[in-house]
Parts: sequence; structure tokens; C-alpha cells
Amino acid sequence: MPTHWYTGTVSRILVLSPGTRQFDLMVMGEDRTFDFIPGQFITLDLPVSDKRRDRWRSYSIANEPNDKNLIELCIVRSPEGPGTRYLFEEIKTGSEITFKGPDGGFIIPGDLTKEIVMICTGTGVAPFRSMIRHIMQNNMPFRSIHLIFGTRRQEDILYREEFEQYAKENPCFRYSVALSREEVKGFHHGYVHGIYMEEYSKNTPDRYFYICGWSKMIDEAIENLILKSKYDKTQIRYELYG
Ligand SMILES: Cc1cc2nc3c(=O)[nH]c(=O)nc-3n(C[C@H](O)[C@H](O)[C@H](O)COP(=O)(O)OP(=O)(O)OC[C@H]3O[C@@H](n4cnc5c(N)ncnc54)[C@H](O)[C@@H]3O)c2cc1C
Repeated sequence: MPTHWYTGTVSRILVLSPGTRQFDLMVMGEDRTFDFIPGQFITLDLPVSDKRRDRWRSYSIANEPNDKNLIELCIVRSPEGPGTRYLFEEIKTGSEITFKGPDGGFIIPGDLTKEIVMICTGTGVAPFRSMIRHIMQNNMPFRSIHLIFGTRRQEDILYREEFEQYAKENPCFRYSVALSREEVKGFHHGYVHGIYMEEYSKNTPDRYFYICGWSKMIDEAIENLILKSKYDKTQIRYELYG
């Protein structure tokens, strides 16, 4: 089937942290709802190169499926990157963006009777926000979900109020934050690895790990879980951002 390209109009830009913004896209000119599975991503075609493939940048959808044709993207500015330079400097409310998707098999767990541990750093939280909001808003029963989020400083924490609220309302949902560059009461000081290795280093077949972010963190997590803690590789799913 030929790729279908959509046009999205940027309806809102929110500053989430000093380096991160949420871009809300309204899908335009479609007579059907833009549907996706929580965890999937879209690919933007940004005018940053003459070569088609060099213009493509993928972003996880950070909100839950909805009937408003609204897509929320949570994007961190990369210091040298042409894609995020374009998004942060050229894109304004009302700008149009061409995109394709949804794509990807890193999706909401099919079996919520297992223990789910979600591990992410920075904007790697995006697919988990979509999954968790979908579960909470639809009152889907689940056994346990532990979201472990890592970033440098307190000011870089993304969607903190939302996740704290879910944790308050639902005893089966836990939210832990690791800060690598700042020691703050109530947060783990260090990397995400310290949190899950302390709690989950003894393996059980009923536990599944979902990991999202950049290669350094994911490689280390896989090494810890498979080589040190002897989890089976079928218990680990991940989405690699780069
Ligand atoms: C399936 C998928 C989903 C993605 N979802 C998101 C998302 O929801 N939010 C998001 O912000 N990004 C996401 N990304 C990354 C995104 O596609 C771009 O790679 C990123 O925005 C950088 O684009 P750029 O043009 O600015 O820099 P590029 O020139 O493409 O990147 C420069 C280099 O820096 C690396 N890099 C870029 N940012 C970081 C970082 N923060 N930490 C470590 N290395 C980095 C890249 O891997 C690359 O090697 C996703 C990637 C994939 C493959």
C-alpha cells in the first residue's frame, strides 16, 4: 500500500522543561479519525535536507487515542540536530507539518495481569504517557505498573503532576524519578538503573520490562536485566530513539 502522508496543523506549543516542548498537531482534511495504538510513533517530513530520507524524524505519540484527531509530541532539543533546530526555531502555532504513520510495534502490553516495569529517560517517557493515560482513562484493570523516569535535574522532569496524581489515585501504579545531576529529597540520586536493580534484580517470569530512550541507557538496562539478573529476553521490550 502506498504511504499515506497527512498534514497536521500545530495547534499549541507547550514548554515542558528548559529543553523540551510539547507540540500538539491537529490532523487536517481527513474524513476519518486518526487512529493509533498507545506506544506507536509518527514520522515527520521536515524541510531540513534535499534528500528525502534525511528529512524524516520519528516521534512517539505522547497522548492517548482520541476522537479529536489530536496528536501530542514531546520533543527534546538536540544541541546540534537539524530536525529539532527546525522544530524549535521555525515551527509556530498555525504551522503545517507533513507526517506519516502511525508505525511501530512498541505498544501497550496486551496482558495487564503481568507486573509491568516501564523504564525511560527524558522524552522516552512519551510512549508510556500514552499507554498509562489510555489505561487510566478507560479504567482498564491492571496488576501493577511501575514507571521509572530518569533525567538530570528536577526542572527537567516531564509530566510530573500527571504521574503523581495517577500514583495517588491508584495503588497499583507507582512512579519513581531518578535525578543524575542533583540531590533532591524524595527522588533517587543517580540513574534509573539504580532503582530497578534494587527492586527487581531477583527475576520472576511474571514481570515484563518496557524500556524507551537512547542507546546508552537501553544497552545498560538490557545488560543488567539479561546478563546480571537473568531475565529472559522475551520479558524485555524496548524502543530505541537513536
Ligand atoms: C521510533 C522513534 C521514536 C522517537 N521518538 C522521539 C520522541 O518522542 N521525542 C524525542 O525527542 N525524540 C524522539 N526520537 C528521536 C528523534 O527521531 C530525533 O532523532 C531527534 O529529535 C534528533 O533529531 P535532530 O535532527 O535534532 O538530530 P540528529 O541530527 O538526527 O541527531 C544527532 C545525533 O544525536 C543523537 N541524539 C539526538 N538527541 C539525543 C538525546 N536527547 N540524547 C542522546 N542522543 C541524542 C542522535 O541519535 C544522533 O546521533 C525518536 C526516534 C525514533 C527512532
